[in-house]
Amino acid sequence: MKRILIIEDEQVIVEVEKDYLEASGFEVEVATSGDVGLKKAVEEPYDLIILDLMLPNTDGYEICKQVREVKNIPILMVSAKKEEIDKIRGLGLGADDYMTKPFSVGELVARVKAHLARYERLTGDQGAKPKDEVRIRGIRIDKLSRKVYVNETEVSFTSKEFDLLLFLALHPNRVFSKDELFEKIWGMDSMGDNATVTVFISKLREKIESDPSKPQYIETIWGVGYRLNL
Ligand code: CA
Repeated sequence: MKRILIIEDEQVIVEVEKDYLEASGFEVEVATSGDVGLKKAVEEPYDLIILDLMLPNTDGYEICKQVREVKNIPILMVSAKKEEIDKIRGLGLGADDYMTKPFSVGELVARVKAHLARYERLTGDQGAKPKDEVRIRGIRIDKLSRKVYVNETEVSFTSKEFDLLLFLALHPNRVFSKDELFEKIWGMDSMGDNATVTVFISKLREKIESDPSKPQYIETIWGVGYRLNL
């Protein structure tokens, strides 16, 4: 059974979320303050975290940042204010999705399921697959630990950067449009648009290319999209 941690200080929201998620077959734990939530998120095994932004003691920004340093599990951030959501997106803390309150719990459950499925697909079936590494010339991607090595030096990637690189590496020499990549990595339901893809492609280039202005790995196919060359 998948375990979900809800970090949320509004009791009414906690109850509704918990009820719906449990009814959908998830095991749910709750933390109603930031410091307790952070401790649980870091120390205990969860498959996904639903993280409120404004919390007593430690806020959602800090929790997201600290969890990301040690875990790649999906994080869904929720906030009462649209402006706050824009701000956290801009900070690039590594959350996988954002929702503005009030949201429909049905939508929350749908997003939870989508993120769990995507995460499972990208990390692979643990233990079942002998091949958990993808190599493209000097790049080595470890799917299980979600680590990337460029010329055998580990380079840190955010969750979405990793997902995008892995997806391209699993389909080398194929051209994908920005729309296709956005849908594959962020999902149709996510906020944002395909300009996000452009931003992430340049982040990937900074990390894997020796000269990002003359990319050897990720090639831009003008008017079409991007391709990772073998
Ligand atoms: Ca709150």
